[in-house]
Amino acid sequence: MATRPPSLDRRSFLTASAAAAALLATDPRGLLARSVAQPAPSNFSDLRGGVGIFSGQGGTIGWFIGPDGAVIIDSQFPRTAEPCRKGLLSRSEKGLSLLVNTHHHGDHTGGNAIFRSDRDGKGVGRIVAHAKVPALQKAQATSRGSEAGQVYADTTFETTWKQDLGAETLHAKHYGPAHTGGDIVVRFEKANVAHLGDLVFNRAHPFIDPAGGGSIIGWPAVLQAIHDDFDDDAAFIFGHGQPAHGVVGRRNDIALMRDYFRRAIDTVEAGRAAKLSREEIAAKTPEGFEPFVSFNERMSLRATLEKTWDELEAKSASAEAE
Ligand SMILES: [Zn+2]
Repeated sequence: MATRPPSLDRRSFLTASAAAAALLATDPRGLLARSVAQPAPSNFSDLRGGVGIFSGQGGTIGWFIGPDGAVIIDSQFPRTAEPCRKGLLSRSEKGLSLLVNTHHHGDHTGGNAIFRSDRDGKGVGRIVAHAKVPALQKAQATSRGSEAGQVYADTTFETTWKQDLGAETLHAKHYGPAHTGGDIVVRFEKANVAHLGDLVFNRAHPFIDPAGGGSIIGWPAVLQAIHDDFDDDAAFIFGHGQPAHGVVGRRNDIALMRDYFRRAIDTVEAGRAAKLSREEIAAKTPEGFEPFVSFNERMSLRATLEKTWDELEAKSASAEAE
């Protein structure tokens, strides 16, 4: 019997209100009050090969139900991690096995405590991340006064990491500084699905974080290397995406983001060569950025050009100092 090719059919269902009500009952300080009017969205979608996504608030969560329990990629915030945990426990007899953080940002690690919690004997046994993630996460939490709620990775690695999941194999790889200094790509080998964290903002201006070790100059080379590591069948989960295009895509979406950064660097280098100021360059609206929308001022074409200018300026300053 012929096997059908893997598809990206999605099956969605909502379990919002009950989970939100349960969560509110455990919220003594009323921090979740807003969720009364706006129940925490808890939307599970199956992708293929047992891999799926959960869209709530913040970076997309990826998941896989393995023989030793559920594997979770990123944890959003406590408010949405709770209904995600509940939904995964209903699908996974063995509970939760493993949590992987694609990078340190709060909308990818804020729910770590929820998944780690062993209150029913079913919390994750390990949290895996790049070696730089715990320190970056701590620094970010200190700057925001949110140290108390942090739970950090206990298994870290520098370049690659691998885990046998029965019929499936999980791979994680760091390609170099890009969105942050500790980004990893998490790949389910057999399903041929990979979670890219925030290395791709699908057709949206990205959040750029030099303080978190990010690099606009390094970013396009990282995306090229990822593009080369996969084939056209591969499906990718992105941390964020323009609503019209979603958070699941293909290799061409990676190439589009790669070209975004190449174009930003070219624009700023041409402006600097023409002796234009940072302000003059940041006010430019060059062609080629039309597919990308802006979520807010911090994530806009202007912000990208300003931060590109800053990085190129710092690079040439340090070259002159040598
Ligand atoms: Zn991020």
